Amino acid sequence: MSFKSLGLSEALLKAISKKGYETPSPIQEKAIPPVLEGHDVLASAQTGTGKTAGFTLPILQLLSQEAPLRNRPVRSLILTPTRELAAQIYDNVREYGEFLNLRSAVIFGGVNQNPQIATLKNGVDVLIATPGRLLDLQAQGHLSLNKVEIFVLDEADRMLDMGFLRDIQKVMKLIPAKRQNLMFSATFSKDIKKLAHGILNNPVQVDATPENSTVDAISQKVYRVAREKKTGLAIKLISEGNWKQVLVFTGTKHGANRLCESFEKAGITAAAIHGNKSQGARTKALEGFKKGTVSVMVATDIAARGLDIPLLPHVINFDLPNISEDYVHRIGRTGRAGASGEAISLVSADETSFLLAIEKLVGLKLPVEIVEGFEPDPNASTKPINRQQEAREFRKQKQREASKAKTNSNSSSKENSTEKKRVFTNKRR
Ligand code: AMP
Repeated sequence: MSFKSLGLSEALLKAISKKGYETPSPIQEKAIPPVLEGHDVLASAQTGTGKTAGFTLPILQLLSQEAPLRNRPVRSLILTPTRELAAQIYDNVREYGEFLNLRSAVIFGGVNQNPQIATLKNGVDVLIATPGRLLDLQAQGHLSLNKVEIFVLDEADRMLDMGFLRDIQKVMKLIPAKRQNLMFSATFSKDIKKLAHGILNNPVQVDATPENSTVDAISQKVYRVAREKKTGLAIKLISEGNWKQVLVFTGTKHGANRLCESFEKAGITAAAIHGNKSQGARTKALEGFKKGTVSVMVATDIAARGLDIPLLPHVINFDLPNISEDYVHRIGRTGRAGASGEAISLVSADETSFLLAIEKLVGLKLPVEIVEGFEPDPNASTKPINRQQEAREFRKQKQREASKAKTNSNSSSKENSTEKKRVFTNKRR
C-alpha cells in the first residue's frame, strides 16, 4: 500500500516524502480513505501509531480542494487536551501543508494570548486548540467557529480524564450542526462511547490497535522490588543497560522531581516534565531529550500525553498507574513505527492490585523478574498506596528538612557563608 493509492494529492505526497515516510501506517491506511470520502470516523489509536497524519492529511486535502472563503474563517477545528499535543499537531499540519495554500494556527493556555489573537485576525483555515483558551478567545470575540466543516476530537479519553466534557459540549454548540466529525481515542470506556454517540453521525470505525490491548512489538516486563529500592534499581537498569532514551513515569509531580534529582546524582542526565513546570521548561526538556543531551525524561501521565518522540526504546513505569488505561497509553510510547521497544514496570507490594487490574485489561500475564540486591520486601503490606497521602508526607518531610537546614545555617552561618561562596564560584566556573 502506498500513500498515492490512498488518493492523496501530489502536493501532499511531496510533503510526505520530504518527511521520509515510505508507507502509510495501519491507522493511516484505514482512516484516510473514509475521511476523504466525507465520512465521520471513530478511530481507536494511541499516540505513536501515526494517527496525526491519519487525520491531518485528508483534512488538508479536503480543504485545499475548495477555494478559500472570504476572510478565511476556521474551516477545520482540531481539539486536543494538552498544549504539547496541540503544538505537535500544528507542526505536522504545517509540514504536511507546506505545498498548499492553507493557513493554520495553534492556540493554548499558559502563554500570552495577544500573538494568538493577531494570528487569528489574519484568517486561519485549520485551527488546533486546547478547550480552555479556545472558549476564552471565542468569548472575547476573537474567533468565530460557525464555518467549521471538519471537527476533530483528538485523545478523547484524555479529554474526559482531564475534565473537559463541559468544555467540549460548549464547543459543540459553537460549530455548525452539519459538519464532518473525526474522533480519536486510545481507550473506549462507556463514557467515551456515549460522547462518540453524541458527536458522531453514523461513523466508520477504524482500529489501529485492538481495543484496550497493548502493541505486539512491545516487550513488557515486571520487576518485583521493595518500594525503597526502586530508585536504585532504575539507576542500575539505565546505567548497566546504557539506555539512552528513557521515558520514566511517576505517579506524582514531587515523585518526578525527586527521582530526577537521584538520577542526576547518579550521573544520568535527566529532566522532569509535569504540570508545575512552565511551558518553556517543558519545551526545553523535550528538546534536550530529542537531541540526546538528556537521557531520561521523568513525566507524570498528564504531562506525557501527546509528546511526539519517535522510536523510543525504553519506557519505565516507576510507579504503576492506578488507572489501568494509563498503562496502555504509557507503553504506547515505545515500539512505535515498527521498531521494537521495551516497557518495564517496577512493582512494589502495595501496587499488587494495580498490576492485577492492568493484566486483566491487557489480557496478559506480564513476566516477572527479580534482581539480586533489589528483592521485594516479603513483609510489606499489599494495601494500595495512597498517592495523595504520599505527597502530603513528602511535603511535610521537605518542610522539616528546610527548617532543620535553617537552624543549622543560623548556628554556623560564618563557616557556611565561606563554603557557599566557594560552591557558587565553582558553579559559575
Ligand atoms: P503520531 O501517532 O501521529 O504521534 O505519530 C508518531 C510518529 O510517527 C511521529 O513522529 C510521526 O512523524 C511518525 N509517522 C507518522 N506516520 C508515519 C509513516 N507513515 N511512516 C513513518 N513514520 C510516521
